[in-house]
Order: sequence, then structure tokens, then C-alpha cells
Amino acid sequence: MTDPSFADRVRGTLLGGAIGDALGAAFEAMPNAAIEAVLGSPRVLDYRLGEQDSILSGHPAGQPTDDTAMALSLARVLASAPRITARVIARAFRNDLSPDGRYGRLFYEGAPGIATTRALRRLANGAHAPNNGYPEDGGNGAAMRAHPVGVLPNRGRVSRIAALQARITHGHPAAVAAAQAVALIVHDLLWGQPLTPQPPLGITETVFLSAWRRAHRNLTLDEAGRLPPHLRDVAKSGWETVSVAHAIAVLFADDPEAGIGAAAASGLDTDTVGCICGAFLGAAHGAQRLPSRWVHKLSVRDLVEEAAAALLARYHTERLSGPPQPRRWHQSRG
Ligand SMILES: [Mg+2]
Repeated sequence: MTDPSFADRVRGTLLGGAIGDALGAAFEAMPNAAIEAVLGSPRVLDYRLGEQDSILSGHPAGQPTDDTAMALSLARVLASAPRITARVIARAFRNDLSPDGRYGRLFYEGAPGIATTRALRRLANGAHAPNNGYPEDGGNGAAMRAHPVGVLPNRGRVSRIAALQARITHGHPAAVAAAQAVALIVHDLLWGQPLTPQPPLGITETVFLSAWRRAHRNLTLDEAGRLPPHLRDVAKSGWETVSVAHAIAVLFADDPEAGIGAAAASGLDTDTVGCICGAFLGAAHGAQRLPSRWVHKLSVRDLVEEAAAALLARYHTERLSGPPQPRRWHQSRG
């Protein structure tokens, strides 16, 4: 198979994130064993109505959640704001995610996290955006929306903006590092680096790195094709979630369909593990390698395609036509 084009990898990042989110949404908060019992398989094969035992019981099949609502809001800022600052991103979150905002329904129907909803309320009351997130808030809400930042061309800027957007809702240093890791990994994959168990260059936060090491050892499936126990039912901290989502992507580095399906069935925060793993595998393989039934039945496909096209138009016009670009991720690290 030929290399996917850069533009297709960018589409793959955003579509993969939204698809993993929507696949996992049907099972959010259910343990892995219960999900496997429902499916009769260790992987999700298609969108389903929110299971009765999920916190998203009755959620429409194919509709993603707050993860994708926030990623779309952030992507709009990245694609259109003259200057990308914490205040500008915070204003977009407040407007887009309000009940009658552009992505408000997607957000509120997707069971947004406590830290994020509280942070949005503080912003509405006039809090200072750049350090609005509390240092004790270490959930995965800042990381689950960070993948669009990886599309930016300058790796240093990717890291800075990923941190800046994280601190608007989550102040825990390891949750900020987790958001930076998501954006940097996406960036490196887009620029042609393979999926490997190595943490992204430039991440030194120790809580994050120890979670990363725990997640990336013993990466083997059992004879029934199940994830190893340490990758099931993962805690909701940013560092655990990102590390596990990445380890699942590494385990299924050649098979995005199986990897995203396994992440979405991994247990507990299935939509977010699915979202982050989907963004990684989509960036690595491009949208062409995502199953077409998942792309076609994604409820917000048009919004996601629009966001990918807008990011490409702002940052990568030279790549929108012509043959696939050569691999050159080394240079982007300068
Ligand atoms: Mg969610």
C-alpha cells in the first residue's frame, strides 16, 4: 500500500478521533468484562445505541461526545484565529459549548467531565483563562481534545499551544504533559514517524513518564485477542488515559480498525480511550484506512471534514495538491 498523503493523515487524525469517541460512547463507564459480554467479542465492530448500563444509555449510534465537541471548537480557533491565545480558546469553548452553541448539543449529550464543566463556569464568571484549570484537576479532559494541535507545522508551537489550551481547564502538571504528548505524537505521526513504544521527545514530566512505562510493557494479546489486563479499565487521569490509548495503538500499529475497536471496548472511559487511540491510528494511516462504514455513519462527519479542511487550508496549502510529501519529520523538530 502506498503512503497516505499528508492531507489524508490530517483527515485521519480528526476522523479517527471522532470515530473512536463515537464507538466507545455506547459503553462509557462499563467495565471491559461487561462490554465483552454484550459484544461477544473483545472489540467494537460498529456503532451502537448507548447500552443501558453505560452512563450514556440511549445515546444515538454514531454520535461522538464532549471529546469531539471540544476538539472541533479548538480546531476552529486553530484554523481561524489571527492570534491563538488562552483567552481566544477560552472564549471559543464558552461560546461553542454553551447549550445553544455550535457544538453545545454534542457536548452536553456527551456527559462532559466535572473539571471541565466547573472550569467553563469559572470562565463565565470572569476567571483568568491562562490558569483557570486547578492544579488538582488531572483528568483526561485536556488531552482528549488536543489532537488537532498536532497539525500545526512547528513542533515547539505544537507543544506550547497544547499546554496553553490544557491549562484553561486542567492545571495538574501531568495532565498538561498528557495533552502535550497527544499533540506531539500526532504531529510526529503526521510527519512520517512510525508508531513506537517511545514517549514523544520533549516530554519530561515524571508522573506522565512512569504511567507511560507501565502502559507500554508486556504488549501482547491473549489467545482470545484480548488486551493485556493493564490496558483494560484504565483510570481517568490524563496520563493513564493517554499512555494506555497509545499502547493500544502500538499493539495494533498495522490495523487501525482492530486497534480503535479494541480501545473502544477497553472499559470505563471508553469514548476517550477510543478517541485518543483513533486520532493516533488515523494520523499514522490516514482516513483512507479507516473503515468506510465508520466514516459514513459518523453523525458529525461533515463538521469533522470541514475542520480538517480548514486546518489544511491555513497551515498546509502547499500539500493540498500534488504527490505525497516525502518523510521529513526530523527537520520539523529543529
Ligand atoms: Mg466523552
